[in-house]
Formats: sequence, structure tokens, C-alpha cells
Amino acid sequence: MAVFNAPRHGHVNPTLAVVAELVARGHRVSYAITEDFAPQVKAAGADIVTYRVSHTALEAAEDLAAGATQAMQQNLRALPELMAAFADDTPDLVLYDLAAAGGRLLAAHWKVPAIQLAPTHLPYEGILPELYGVPDLSCIPGVDILRMVLPARGVHEPLEELLFAPRQAIAFFPRAFQRKPDTVTAGSVTYAGPALGDRSYQGNWEPPQDGRPVLFVSLGSQFTCRPEFYRACIEAFSDTGTHVVMSIGHSVDPADLGPVPKTMEMHTRVPQLDVLPHAAAFVTHGGMGSVMEALAHGVPLVVVPQMTEQQANAHQVEQLSLGVHLPREQATPQALRDAVQRVTTAPEIARGVAVLRQEIHEAGGAVAAADAIERAFTLEPPR
Ligand code: UDP
Repeated sequence: MAVFNAPRHGHVNPTLAVVAELVARGHRVSYAITEDFAPQVKAAGADIVTYRVSHTALEAAEDLAAGATQAMQQNLRALPELMAAFADDTPDLVLYDLAAAGGRLLAAHWKVPAIQLAPTHLPYEGILPELYGVPDLSCIPGVDILRMVLPARGVHEPLEELLFAPRQAIAFFPRAFQRKPDTVTAGSVTYAGPALGDRSYQGNWEPPQDGRPVLFVSLGSQFTCRPEFYRACIEAFSDTGTHVVMSIGHSVDPADLGPVPKTMEMHTRVPQLDVLPHAAAFVTHGGMGSVMEALAHGVPLVVVPQMTEQQANAHQVEQLSLGVHLPREQATPQALRDAVQRVTTAPEIARGVAVLRQEIHEAGGAVAAADAIERAFTLEPPR
């Protein structure tokens, strides 16, 4: 099998436990990704096939239409390299992230089945205005570029169908969290929920011994250059009797954040799956990976979105009583304290989190995803 992915933690992390499960079941998995993701991909048991990107933005675009265009351009540039790398070893099945449409084109070229891996909402009615800020696909520049190359790549289905209506998809969240699930246009969807597995390649984290409740603060892996937000958190949570773990990314110097009390840890990056089992609450940007990882551990959320997709997640979080949506322009120290107080005490939020945690458990994670992938082989056996 071959996995095609975009060089983003939020896209790669959800797939790693699935790869490990497939390898444990005896499949050989090749994983197309940039070199910097080699440690975790190899640790999952896949053979890495690298491609280069001409320019990896330090920070992802807040504007999803611009981000999608960048991803499509990177995909097309990588195609010749990937085609050559797989020339003597074509896969029987392709798994491709929704930001790695190149994988879908290669599957068409090799005439093998393809399954889309969805780390975030599958296309639903209204996704273009709501998440991409455009009325239709033609307003996303990268789409036209992709449309032009399809026939030469042996892809004859309409681009709309290819991008928005994959025949088969695996979603790394339960159906209850999908925006407008009744309008999802994909053919057959397996809502496997988050696929969590070993991340010892990240090192480990131990909880404090002083018995204080742990509060976890992180804006994920992309939107981390937010010194004002970190300063607001330091002010908000300095005297609250909690032990605060903050992941601030690589672009902010902790020295610029002022004095930090002993009860606060600052890290450029933390092994998130080690921290969450000990966390009483999670102040997060609301990336789908972070939201799902927290809910899988029963942790309530304060979501401070940094872009539209995270706003959609914040909306779901409020709708399903999983926490509080705090718009970033309102994230003052007082508002942050109030929000944490609310999510750790409101009974309806505790109930909402317990319900979703159970749904995640029932969704099946990596095992359910691997089952769905193996079923695709049963429908279309390897040549
Ligand atoms: N992550 C981590 N440590 C950190 C920050 C993030 O391990 O300090 C991981 C997190 O567990 C998640 C991914 O990076 O799997 C971030 O993905 P998400 O979808 O939450 O947001 P994105 O970074 O794509 O905005």
C-alpha cells in the first residue's frame, strides 16, 4: 500500500497508528512524505519515500483557499519524483490525505483503488463559503491548475467529484463531530475516529508530583507565533493553583514572554498524548487532531480558533457541549480564566465530553480504519 501525505503534523499524526496496524497485519506500506517526517513514519513501520517541497511556509496560511492552492502546486511538482520512486514497485492500493491529491492522480495512473484519509471535516454543503471563504471551486486558483492536468494523468472523472466526492473515505473523527454530516458528498465513509498510537519518538512527559490539576495550553503545530496570546495565558493562570503546561512552538522566544512562575512549563513542543491523560482542561486553537486527542481522553476544551476550520470545530464544540468557544480577539486573561472555570465545572460539559468520548471509543480508531482498508482489497483484490 502507499500513503501520500502533506508535510503537516496535523495531517501525518492521524495516520501513523493506522500504518502501524496495517504493518502489524502483514501489509507492506510505503509512505510518501518529506524527509523531516522520516522518524515518525519509520517508527510506524512504513518505508519512507521522500519528495521535496520547494517552499514550506513556516506558518500555514490562515486563508484556506491560499493554503489549498499551495498544497495543489506542491502536489503537482512532486508528481514526477514520486512516479519515478514507485516506478518498479507500484502499490495495490493508495491512501491519500485530502491535501495530497497527487496520490489520487497516481492511483488513477496505476489503475488501483484509492481511499481518502480525512484528518478534518469531509466536504459538506456550504464548506466553500464557510471554510474557504469563496462561493465556488473556481475561486480557488490551484483548482484550475489541477483541472488542466487531469486528462493527461488519465483521470477522467470531473474534478469536483475527485476532490469533493471520493468513492471511499476514512475520517479521523466520529460522525457526530462532522459539520452537516447528512450533506457529506463522499461515497462510503468510515468514521474511524482518532487513531492514537505510540509517539515515543517525541520523548516523554511526566506529570508534576504536587497534586495540582494540570492545565494544557497549545495552539498546535502551525499557528504558534502568538506571543500576546501566551502572555495573556501567563497572566491568566499564574495564581490559579494549577500546573500549566504550555507548548509555544519554535518561533516565539520564551524570554520575550516575561517572568514565568515555577508552576508553569514552557516547551517548544510537548508529547501531547502524554500530557492529555493528566489534563483537567485544554486551551487549544481547535485543530481537529488536538480536539479529538483531548476528547479521547475526556478533557474539556476552551477553543481559541486561529482560522475558519478551527472556528467550525469551535462551533461543533459548543453545539455538542464539549467546551467553550473563545474568539481570539476576546481572549483576555479574565476571559481565559472564566472559560477554564466554566469547562471544568459545568455538569452539561462533563456530560457532553463523556458522550463524545464514548462515541470515539465505539468508532474504533486505527483498527476500524485498517478494517475498512482491508475491505477495499476484498472488493477490488490486488492484481
Ligand atoms: N502536537 C504535539 N505537541 C505539541 C503541539 C502539537 O504533539 O506541542 C501534535 C498534536 O498532538 C496534534 C498535531 O500536533 O496531533 C496538531 O494537529 P492539529 O490538527 O491539532 O492542529 P494543526 O497543528 O494542524 O493546526
